Amino acid sequence: MAYDNNNIFAKILRGEIPAIKLYEDEQTLSFMDIMPQVEGHCLVIPKVAAETIFDLPAGYGDACVATVQKVGTALKKAFSTDGIVIYQLNGTDAGQTVPHLHFHLLPTSLGTLMGGRRHASEMADADQLKIVAQKIIAAM
Ligand code: 5GP
Repeated sequence: MAYDNNNIFAKILRGEIPAIKLYEDEQTLSFMDIMPQVEGHCLVIPKVAAETIFDLPAGYGDACVATVQKVGTALKKAFSTDGIVIYQLNGTDAGQTVPHLHFHLLPTSLGTLMGGRRHASEMADADQLKIVAQKIIAAM
């Protein structure tokens, strides 16, 4: 399927809608998930039109992994844990709701996640998200 240029993450990348950003470089962006499953839930996306991991052009995989490592390491420090769940959904059948490739990073355990809040379900308070973002940025 053709990439939808009007998906919400494409709009964030173009600066058309706001996001609470954690880190950015030439090829990737990391920001807070607006409906977090746990405190500290954040996302890493490539700055390229790719709906799923199967559409990712060569060169962006390394950049995504480097940013996942950087932000994930900050999450470990900020939340004093060695447990970071990283997941990534491809296609609506898998539950993907935003058609731009993204990695979910969550300072939690799989058990907590599975017994807890579903992703993309409950909007967080923006001011609270900003406080959590500052905590992660300070740990980077
Ligand atoms: P997916 O279901 O595609 O794997 O996950 C999409 C994620 O994007 C969800 O966890 C959802 O909470 C998050 N999300 C949806 N819309 C927005 C938005 O406008 N801004 C931010 N920061 N996150 C969003």
